[in-house]
Amino acid sequence: MEIIFATNNENKTREIRNILGSSFRLLSLNDLNIGEEIPEDGSTLESNALHKARYIFKKFNRSVFADDTGLEIDILNGLPGVKSARFAGENKNSDANIDKVLLLMGKSENRNARFRTVIALIFEGRESVFEGVVEGRIINERRGSDGFGYDPVFIPDGESRTFAEMTLEEKNRISHRARAFEKLRSFLDNINRTACMENVI
Ligand code: IMP
Repeated sequence: MEIIFATNNENKTREIRNILGSSFRLLSLNDLNIGEEIPEDGSTLESNALHKARYIFKKFNRSVFADDTGLEIDILNGLPGVKSARFAGENKNSDANIDKVLLLMGKSENRNARFRTVIALIFEGRESVFEGVVEGRIINERRGSDGFGYDPVFIPDGESRTFAEMTLEEKNRISHRARAFEKLRSFLDNINRTACMENVI
């Protein structure tokens, strides 16, 4: 079964290919020679993910999914949220983004935050949305050198290490993205099983 992942990020595509397994032929935008970045100017993660998926569906009329992720900090009323990538400016600088978060939070005692990933799927014309969340807290200083984005300042609940102090495998066991993509995988697996049964009958 063939499905398009609306991203140009080959690292992400490799990671998700791994989660979805071999029953699906996953094509990225690079595979389709689409170099353009689809605008992400919606006001929610859901609207951004849906917009990207609909954009590709309209263009190719093929099954597609798209994702969007944000860090939501309670004391900042959910910011950086949809603005996570460009919180400190258009150049998507992770170091500057972290500096801005730490500056805005100051010495605030409420450090509660979560990463949220939303996936929008359009499968044979029908839309579905999946979500993965990991709750945690923001610490005052950076720790660890693995990972990316806000990983050095985020400690998931039940852990004493930041995401940046974990191996990728450890992070993927509990991460927002892994949780959302597991839901997508189980949805697609069901479709695959049903299709196989119909072929047998
Ligand atoms: P995207 O929607 O996956 O491109 O994520 C948007 C932004 O959220 C990224 O540019 C990062 O700043 C941040 N982000 C997403 N996922 C993670 C993560 O797993 N760790 C840290 N930051 C993340």
